Amino acid sequence: MTFDSFGLRAELLDAVKASGYTTPTAIQQRAIPAITQGNDLLAAAQTGTGKTAAFTLPLLHRLAAQRPAGKGRPVRLLVVAPTRELAAQIHESVRNYGQDLPLKSAVVFGGVGMQPQIDRLRRGVDVLIATPGRLLDHLQRGHVRLDRLETVVLDEADRILDMGFIHDIRRLLKQLPRERQTLLFSATFSSEIRRLASGMLRDPVEIDV
Ligand code: AMP
Repeated sequence: MTFDSFGLRAELLDAVKASGYTTPTAIQQRAIPAITQGNDLLAAAQTGTGKTAAFTLPLLHRLAAQRPAGKGRPVRLLVVAPTRELAAQIHESVRNYGQDLPLKSAVVFGGVGMQPQIDRLRRGVDVLIATPGRLLDHLQRGHVRLDRLETVVLDEADRILDMGFIHDIRRLLKQLPRERQTLLFSATFSSEIRRLASGMLRDPVEIDV
């Protein structure tokens, strides 16, 4: 299998080639078609499997295919990650793969000042990557709106729960449009993860690599 078979936009294929990838990894082979078609996804995947590209490439493809109606630049894709390191890494991937697309992205996490993040959010972003606590902070203070969200990704959901963010995640989910695409990635599947997944996913494609 090659990346060409997914029907991704040329800008994305160019970025894949520039990254030096020739063959999609196992999770990419299964996740990219499912996500491109708009399905919800429940994926068991460890770090190092290529999972970031597995969700970033098809989601950027979908975002670029359609401009949102109306004014402004609402957040259309939200990726929630447990740690600032992972959030920053995902943001780097989004910037890399999306470098030739007319999409703007930002990352917000705790432990640093709010004001630069507020300024960045005010200028408008299509893609937001965030850790749970800081995201809730921005939401509650009205710095960002998620009412036009199209897709939400929970990456490393097991670690998000291990770090005690379950209440933040539940509060977040209440503020998202019901009509949306939801992806959940986790290395392990405890009963708590299963419960979270069944509450937030609709008829998901399941992948175990
Ligand atoms: P991840 O599992 O998302 O943390 O990715 C692990 C590493 O694999 C990253 O350094 C990616 O740049 C790299 N990678 C992702 N997809 C591929 C691919 N198809 N071929 C080779 N390397 C890849």
